[in-house]
Amino acid sequence: MNRRDFIATTAGVGALAAARGVGSVIPEDRIAPIVLSTWDHGIPANREALRVLEVGGSVIEAVERGVMVVEADPTNLSVGLSGLPDRDGIVTLDASIMSGKGPAGSVCFVQGIAHPISVARMVMEKTPHVMIVGAGAERFARENGVSQRENSLSEGARKAWEEWLKEKKYKPVINIENHDTIGLLAMDENLNMAGACTTSGLAYKVHGRVGDSPIIGAGLYVDDEVGGATCTGLGETVLRTCASFLAVEKMRSGASPQEACEEAIKRIVKKHPTIADYQVGILAMDKKGRHGAHSVHKSFTYALHTQLRQATSYAS
Ligand code: ASP
Repeated sequence: MNRRDFIATTAGVGALAAARGVGSVIPEDRIAPIVLSTWDHGIPANREALRVLEVGGSVIEAVERGVMVVEADPTNLSVGLSGLPDRDGIVTLDASIMSGKGPAGSVCFVQGIAHPISVARMVMEKTPHVMIVGAGAERFARENGVSQRENSLSEGARKAWEEWLKEKKYKPVINIENHDTIGLLAMDENLNMAGACTTSGLAYKVHGRVGDSPIIGAGLYVDDEVGGATCTGLGETVLRTCASFLAVEKMRSGASPQEACEEAIKRIVKKHPTIADYQVGILAMDKKGRHGAHSVHKSFTYALHTQLRQATSYAS
């Protein structure tokens, strides 16, 4: 077997033509396993997810383990407990997980939990619910053996927050070069799909704010019959357009993953024309192992890892 890893960048809506094709580098007859995720931190996440699949783990296990790598990275300022805080200096985390068979789980606004994705998985597997928030989610986690830490800021997050406090601009800081959430989609050899999405959310958000990442259909959506999609960027724009669900439904109607991503970004831009104020990136993958990626601005990077039964050269 021949493992291929690579990282790619989308060109943004300003260069739609140039971006076309970026997402179609896997030949249509490619077989799984395949793992696709957001940003450069997707590389270690994908490797772990693929490793889990290689040793026979389930696709749910793979997506959970994959994003846990990023949640555990103490230098990451946008995922996990080392993430940037809200405007009160408190880190609050959101996460969701979804099986292509339909089950889904999510947690919102949790504090002091190192791996919110694992609690989201527990919500999916141990309760009749989809979403549990705040103190209730923290209690549910503790009752299921998850330890809750004191919620303190990482050194990097404290420095950045103190800097932000000098001006305390009400408007959230949108850094389009250095986002954020890890959204990860995977398909195993038997074409079972799953996705996971986890974040500390928008930096300096209002205390209690929840973004798109834990909302099924917004930050993440997966359907084994069609494919999956996940988003990163300004969550409010993704929430208003149900962008992941939109992309999956476009694929259901015949769009390629790349076309589906472009349609979703087009919808977001139509509803939010002041694009200088925000970035959104979306990834999609279908049952054929094809993937797509698009973003409002340049600089949205994503990672794709797959394993080939025979060597195949990529056309980019
Ligand atoms: N989508 C996340 C949120 O709005 C943040 C991000 O991906 O940049 O909470």
